[in-house]
Amino acid sequence: MPILETKGVKAYYSTPLGYIRAVDGIDLTLEKGVILGLAGESGCGKSTLVNTLMMNVRPPLRFIEGTIILDGKEISSMDRSMLKKNVWGVLVSLVPQSALNALMPTQRITDLVKDVVMHHMNVSEQEVVSMAKKRFEELNLEVDTLYRYPHELSGGMKQRVVIAISTLLNPKLLIVDEPTSALDVSTQKQVLKMLVDLKRAKIIESMIFVTHDIAVLRQIANWITIMYAGKIVESGLADDMLNHPKHPYTFSLVNAVVTPEPEVRNRGLASLPGEPPNLLDPPKGCRFNPRCPNAMEICRAKEPHLEEKSNRLVACHLVFP
Ligand code: SF4
Repeated sequence: MPILETKGVKAYYSTPLGYIRAVDGIDLTLEKGVILGLAGESGCGKSTLVNTLMMNVRPPLRFIEGTIILDGKEISSMDRSMLKKNVWGVLVSLVPQSALNALMPTQRITDLVKDVVMHHMNVSEQEVVSMAKKRFEELNLEVDTLYRYPHELSGGMKQRVVIAISTLLNPKLLIVDEPTSALDVSTQKQVLKMLVDLKRAKIIESMIFVTHDIAVLRQIANWITIMYAGKIVESGLADDMLNHPKHPYTFSLVNAVVTPEPEVRNRGLASLPGEPPNLLDPPKGCRFNPRCPNAMEICRAKEPHLEEKSNRLVACHLVFP
């Protein structure tokens, strides 16, 4: 049984001008034990998708339709209080992109830990603190850190602390959204190592790692899913995808990274001409067609569906089985 399975999931932002179709028909299966790298340009819907996957949907975002099954339970029909009690923190935890800024400057780390854990479990303050100490030791974090204020910690340390706290209840699935984007290369490595350690130590079972940086995925993911304009365009085994991308968008993404020119590497997809489409009124047919160097007549008329083609899921008229 997969840890996560979705069918036809749609979540749109409601605006006075209409719906922004940020997550538009997502079918995703995540097998147990897998680290899935979710990649794509900024604004392609990655963060909206991961929030939707755990049903953390608040206005102006609206869950439109679809089914989400997490560890065998259909969570797409649960209300917020049920999710808080039985799902969040226990089955799935999300470390959001803004996690570092979300730490309250006036709260010591230990108070934050108490807030998080006592919200989900009927335990005493002492029990929470001893759970946190044990977890910090397991992850080679100094236990003293628990008694510090956020401003006393470096960016990398704050990120590791937030991840440690998010996994205190041993969630089966951990979702981390751009955990390394604000960090320098050596601190990035420490955070990636900690994430791998969490899985090795069986504290978590599976992970979704969200990034716009394909180079980071080479270091951590064993499965990769690429999103473009609210849809999945390609999904497959990490090494195979990175060495032999099939979808023209994945090809551009990977190519921007392998170039030896540091400036182009840093710009990433900026080397791809054009802009991502306006999701209030996305292009007809394939959403990538205005930017695709291989676009054909059919691409402007008919939407390609995600289909299995040579051990890969691809949504492109150009790729044959
Ligand atoms: Fe390009 Fe057509 Fe494939 Fe879309 S379906 S990626 S436009 S070739």
